Amino acid sequence: MKPVRVKIDGREVLVTEGTTILQAAEKAGVPIPTLCFHKRLEPAGICGICAVEVEGNPEPVLACNTSVSEGMSIVTSSDKLTAMRREILKNLLAHHPMDCPICDKAGECELQDLVYKYNVTGVGTPKPISKFTETYTTTFIRAWPERCISCLRCVRACSELQGNYALSVVDGPEGVLISYDPSKCVSCGECIQICPTGALTEKKAWERWRIWQIERKVRTTCPYCGVGCQLLLHVRKGKIVKVTGVEDAEPNRGRLCVKGRYGFDFIYSEERLKTPLIRTSAGFREASWNEALDLIARRFKEIIKLHGPDAIAGVSCARSINEDSYNMQKFFRAVIGTNNIDHCART
Ligand code: SF4
Ligand code: SF4
Ligand code: SF4
Repeated sequence: MKPVRVKIDGREVLVTEGTTILQAAEKAGVPIPTLCFHKRLEPAGICGICAVEVEGNPEPVLACNTSVSEGMSIVTSSDKLTAMRREILKNLLAHHPMDCPICDKAGECELQDLVYKYNVTGVGTPKPISKFTETYTTTFIRAWPERCISCLRCVRACSELQGNYALSVVDGPEGVLISYDPSKCVSCGECIQICPTGALTEKKAWERWRIWQIERKVRTTCPYCGVGCQLLLHVRKGKIVKVTGVEDAEPNRGRLCVKGRYGFDFIYSEERLKTPLIRTSAGFREASWNEALDLIARRFKEIIKLHGPDAIAGVSCARSINEDSYNMQKFFRAVIGTNNIDHCART
């Protein structure tokens, strides 16, 4: 790729041909405000807030979808740009409810942060309008259509990232509206994770909390299948209250399925098995691990003596890590003496 040298707010940066102004600015360490842009999505150029001035251009250009060219000189902040950004934010707030005090997103809302950053005041009394064709709620999602800023990140994430096409755009009387098709939704929660505002919020929670009450976020690997998606567990009062995908890590790059994102309450189930159970003629009884493992070893030996090793078969669990699955097949082939070994995810 051809190298391109550009200047951003006086800082020179070397990038490759095809790089956008936004990407070059990031490399130069210059922040440019965005709303409809998200790193995992194709740039859509909807909100206009990332517009910057380019020397020689009479009008600002969008940083998210304009490629740099050799010698380009870019200004990302000026009185003109600040006025333009304030105007965009004012227009959004004009149809937005004053919900910050009760909004789950307050504290990490991209709209709230920009309104604060650009000190947008004097908006008057807002006239909130719904940007959805209907208010919907599912087991996991609660939609707040008046808080939506029509950035379409959710629509694009549902199609571009998840391939579900459950959200679409239709024409409304005052602009585009978002339409939700429950028959296509798989409750993956990607739309919630990518929404910059509190227009889509998590419905599943053991109690309500504010963003700043999350004590820590613990990175881990999803236990549900062998893909190994990377998760962040949001912990409050020592309990997991929410799960999000790690956006800059393979293999999922932020994406999760319904189990990985929402299937965490089993951890706190009273019915969870924590001790081995041995079946007796009177039913199950609790046993120690040593007793249970001794019983299994004794029964294996008895079966092998009576019927040979091929009378035993093993099926390893798809939730196991590669190393455990390797050990399982090694144990069956080298210790038991049979090739009767399979994996439940193969079927
Ligand atoms: S979406 Fe953001 S700006 Fe709107 S009410 Fe919620 S926190 Fe406030
Ligand atoms: S939960 Fe997933 S499938 Fe359903 S609308 Fe959101 S992104 Fe689309
Ligand atoms: S629901 Fe959220 S992500 Fe979707 S368009 Fe509205 S603000 Fe953007």
